[in-house]
Amino acid sequence: MKAIAVRPGSPNSVHLAELPLPRLEDVAGGRGVLVRVLRCGVDGTDKEINAAEYGRAPEGESILVLGHENFGQVEAVGAKVAAVHPGDFVVATVRRPGTSLYDAIGLSDLTTDDVYLERGINLRHGFLTEFYVDAADFIVTVPARLSHAGVLVEPLSVPEKGITQAFEIQRRLRVWHPHKAAVLGAGSIGLLAALILRLRGLDVTVFGQRQPPFRNVDLIEELGGRYVSTRTMPLREAAQVHGPFDLIFEATGFSPLVFEAMDVLGKNGVLVLASVTGGDRRLEIPADRINLGFVLGNKVAVGTVNSNREHFEAAVDDLALAETRYPGWAASLLTHRVQGLENYRALFDTLTMGRDVIKAYMEVAPLPDADR
Ligand code: BGC
Ligand code: ZN
Repeated sequence: MKAIAVRPGSPNSVHLAELPLPRLEDVAGGRGVLVRVLRCGVDGTDKEINAAEYGRAPEGESILVLGHENFGQVEAVGAKVAAVHPGDFVVATVRRPGTSLYDAIGLSDLTTDDVYLERGINLRHGFLTEFYVDAADFIVTVPARLSHAGVLVEPLSVPEKGITQAFEIQRRLRVWHPHKAAVLGAGSIGLLAALILRLRGLDVTVFGQRQPPFRNVDLIEELGGRYVSTRTMPLREAAQVHGPFDLIFEATGFSPLVFEAMDVLGKNGVLVLASVTGGDRRLEIPADRINLGFVLGNKVAVGTVNSNREHFEAAVDDLALAETRYPGWAASLLTHRVQGLENYRALFDTLTMGRDVIKAYMEVAPLPDADR
């Protein structure tokens, strides 16, 4: 079968590879699920892997099959699999358990291992291929009526985890009723974070550099949120007008903003940091003021990466809710479709096209009965 792969370590090595078909028996104990891949999205992580800045091939292999934002349909299941059936639409989680205590209790997203296993990213092949097999424990079902937006479950699960963690942390406050949230970054993760926060009834202000009009701004307004360009109104000033922010979700990829966010976070507020910043940027900051604000304001900041089964399930629930509150909104994030694995170049070109791409994905196979 065909697959889109890279040779980790050599920049821009994305190519079409030929792999043997996976078999149910590849997973021991009758727990295997064989899935036909229908769609697979791409993001900045795939771009970095193809730039050889990130990602490793499985032990003893020279290529890594890309793709972690997966969506597919079950072809066959092992004898011991009861929760998933042939024909079901499914999404697989990305990270696989390592060796830490957290991994042992099903929280591999919180692993303390230095090396983590992630399909399509680190040491495990991904989903930009025709079929995959994985254990049922890592497979989450998606109702057929959500299949048109199913490829968004994985990216949605990432802010779901961050926001769930924030709410967990805020139980410290006994009576926390967050009213106002800020989302820094209006890309696909920022938009999905805004969706989650709107579904929870918060007043949401999304910040970006670009000046309106552009599509992402319309999408934010369709949710009943507002967009502020930091070129027109800096974060600090906007916090006076639209804050105080009880929750800030940082997803710009630009680390200096983290310290600005710390500075403007409201009393008792929580700041969620979700940008993977691989660089070595330096910055001068008002350290005393930020620290004082944190101490006197009982503020908290939390880093978040990856997502686990429960967050994938929360993402499915929120997609369903989004369909009733904002019909068609989620699927309209899928701005760029590329059909056929052999067109991998076109898929990767969308990652450098920039501005008008919200989410690009590979259609490996057409959605069956998409209108159900
Ligand atoms: C993926 C996460 C992953 C992270 C770091 C993101 O693009 O969505 O699942 O943990 O990259 O590798
Ligand atoms: Zn990702």
